[in-house]
Amino acid sequence: PPSRELPRIRRLEESVVNRIAAGEVIQRPVSAVKELVENSLDAGATSINVIVKDGGLKLIQVSDDGHGIRYEDLPILCERHTTSKLSTFEDLQSIRTMGFRGEALASITYVAHVTVTTITKGQLHGYRTSYRDGAMEQEPKACAAVKGTQIMVENLFYNMAARRKMMQNNSQDDHAKIVDLLSRFAIHYEGLSISCRKHGAARPDVHTVAASSKVESIRGVYGPSVAQSLIKVEVSYNDPSSAIFEMNGLISDSSYVAKKTTMVLFINDRLVDCSALKRVIEVVYAATLPKASKPFVYMAIKLPPEHVDVNVHPTKREVSLLNQEVILGQIQSAIEGKLRNCNEAMTFEEQT
Ligand code: ADP
Ligand code: MG
Repeated sequence: PPSRELPRIRRLEESVVNRIAAGEVIQRPVSAVKELVENSLDAGATSINVIVKDGGLKLIQVSDDGHGIRYEDLPILCERHTTSKLSTFEDLQSIRTMGFRGEALASITYVAHVTVTTITKGQLHGYRTSYRDGAMEQEPKACAAVKGTQIMVENLFYNMAARRKMMQNNSQDDHAKIVDLLSRFAIHYEGLSISCRKHGAARPDVHTVAASSKVESIRGVYGPSVAQSLIKVEVSYNDPSSAIFEMNGLISDSSYVAKKTTMVLFINDRLVDCSALKRVIEVVYAATLPKASKPFVYMAIKLPPEHVDVNVHPTKREVSLLNQEVILGQIQSAIEGKLRNCNEAMTFEEQT
């Protein structure tokens, strides 16, 4: 009978399910770096140092000076769905931390070897232990430690042959992606000192110090020609019947000419993409400063947390906002105004 040829439905082993899911959350080395740095920020770090080897495939090490992890929490630290940040679904409405799913560390342990060293306030020594497939591998050992947490991720994708092979030919590209990511964090978080270096390199690829201004950080990271061209834009909009938001930005003027747009966008301190906003901005530039139509744009938007849905797929950086049309319209006219002014000032200078 044909039924014998029908494929049987079987339940996948849990370890297979977890590895597949982890490969979706951690698509590339840069995804792991983002998760680790966000955890450091959630832990109140003011200093984050990242070391990368082979574009992150051999080693990603993130050290912070945050509040550390309690000894008693270490056994479940890397299990799936263990978090200190969320307890009820309703908490999501007012969530202030970047993490909340308790999925990142677990995912990383399914596709790499993870070693954690941490010390909490008032302790004389820290603890170190390692993890694989969500589980702690041995009892934490006492060790010397400075303030905070260090997470070491080694041999990323060691158990995903195809992915690893693909990335091995691409380590320059992955390193660049990591540097780009950390540059963005460095600009937005003024109280944060952040550095990223290649393993064994004398000089870091990114290094900003806490309390330097945004323009200074941008100068350090993106160079003087960007920094010199920046104009401040601000919108403060409060109409409960349509939208409530604040925007603070720095955008390039007509003196900055580039091949592609750089858009550094933070919404409620989360690094995100919003292609609709990017498009609106490019249209304004093309209309007012056609020669400089690929701008540098840094923008920080604050919204009531309930107006942004953060509970999207873990890898999706793209957000959508409540009342997006109103917000985009307001930002568009603020930028238009600034660019017109700067155009007129230029024309005036040329005439006199
Ligand atoms: P989430 O960030 O969604 O809670 P993660 O898997 O990223 O999930 O982290 C799990 C938990 O581990 C966090 O809730 C936090 O309590 C702890 N943790 C992770 N990284 C750090 C760190 N660098 N410093 C202090 N605690 C950390
Ligand atoms: Mg996290």
